Amino acid sequence: MDPQHHQLHVILFPFPTLGHMIPLLDMAKLLAIRNVKATIITTSVNASAFTKAIETSHKVGNLKLNLEIFKFSAEEAGLPEGCDNAEFAMKHGLGPQFVLAAQFISEQLEQYLDKVQPDCLVTDVNFPWTAEIATKFDIPRIIFYVVSYFSLCAHKLIRVHRLFKDVSSDDETFFIPLIPHEIKMVRSQISPDLINNKDSISKMFDSQIKKSGDQSYGVIVNSFYELEPDYANFFKKEMGWKAWHVGPVSLCNRSTEEKVLRGISASMNEHECLTWFDSKKSASVIYICFGSIVPITAPQFYEIAVALESSGKDFIWVVRISENDEEWLPPGFEQRTEGKGLIIRGWAPQLLILEHKAIGAFVTHCGWNSAIEGITAGVPMVTWPVFAEQFYNEKLVTDILKTGVSVGVKKWSRMPSADDLIKREVIETALREITEGDTAEEMRQRAKQLKDMAWKSVAEGGSSYSDLTALIDELKSHRTQKRV
Ligand code: UDP
Repeated sequence: MDPQHHQLHVILFPFPTLGHMIPLLDMAKLLAIRNVKATIITTSVNASAFTKAIETSHKVGNLKLNLEIFKFSAEEAGLPEGCDNAEFAMKHGLGPQFVLAAQFISEQLEQYLDKVQPDCLVTDVNFPWTAEIATKFDIPRIIFYVVSYFSLCAHKLIRVHRLFKDVSSDDETFFIPLIPHEIKMVRSQISPDLINNKDSISKMFDSQIKKSGDQSYGVIVNSFYELEPDYANFFKKEMGWKAWHVGPVSLCNRSTEEKVLRGISASMNEHECLTWFDSKKSASVIYICFGSIVPITAPQFYEIAVALESSGKDFIWVVRISENDEEWLPPGFEQRTEGKGLIIRGWAPQLLILEHKAIGAFVTHCGWNSAIEGITAGVPMVTWPVFAEQFYNEKLVTDILKTGVSVGVKKWSRMPSADDLIKREVIETALREITEGDTAEEMRQRAKQLKDMAWKSVAEGGSSYSDLTALIDELKSHRTQKRV
């Protein structure tokens, strides 16, 4: 067969947390829409995050995605029992160990690549060891980044220039150097791993990531050029890596079923949710959700509840809390807010909610998926970062895009404590600022413009559409050269 007409086969290998699996699943769909054969690799404990979504894509979009399930046993990989699951590992402070132990499946990966002879391996940045394997099979390894260009640049500049060293206290501000915007941060908003001497696992891992990045063919970023052009350019120039921006990847989900069955099944039926919205005015409801992994304490939920009630705003609030935590709501809260507020215990159909015209603002922890989904829906945000690269995403939203207000979190923390509590008055002020008055209206208008840009970027001829075409063409030509 003419190599140009051979169907490309791309293997996608996500890190097993929902914030990484969901966008890679969308990436697989984007490839399948372009007639590329896409196979997702996962392990048995994580397969359920894909199976329903894959069935639905097949049913409603006639898209055929493949799922390849590898065996992973925590004990055999040298981890404590229960650690087959990344979320469990992270909750127990075993994140770096889990990441290293994932190499346990390298042999299965090699056997599989040998069997199917694919054309490309798209992997998470957390699997640096896949670079050697891709080289062995002479296929391009491409890193899929679930973060923004801005945070990639900000993180690199802070790491290299270490300006936080020049400040005398944790709450003295410093600027991120060499970028076109004036972005202030305080030292306590930076990950302690970056500031202090890290433990040896993290150090070893960082150097592996750097080396594997240099060995890789390029990177895919879930962003669109018009959103952060300065940082897309800066990243490509500074890192010297090829980069393709193909986002917002969530826009590949067009039907209600696809939006609802992303990741895990929603804890609330979509009809119930949509019926509740029916009585609400346009842009009047506040949506609150902290993603899949951020720990929010019962006292913090209590403060949010009081703020919501005294603001008088309508709300839809996603809560992940243990059943034993009784003290997270003021007595009688649900009776008093009946009709005004909806609490979803567990998992919400986030895309569906954000896109509803009744949504007026999104209180978010600024995980990149949530941030870009909020941007794509044209919704202003109250930013509430907790850890990872969430503080950089906050800066992008509040200081560069100017479509959000910060709730004012000053401290990066994997496990916020009672001292880090954001008080009810502060939350209420942020809820008012994002919904009331001229400044709120200006933010809403800017958010709408970004939404339009996002849709244009993925439409035929748009920047993300064209970058995906360029990536596919490059993979085809790589294949052709290999076969000649
Ligand atoms: N999400 C969802 N329902 C929920 C919580 C999260 O659909 O109740 C989705 C959300 O749309 C996003 C992902 O889960 O795609 C969370 O990723 P993000 O980067 O925002 O945060 P993380 O969970 O990784 O901290």
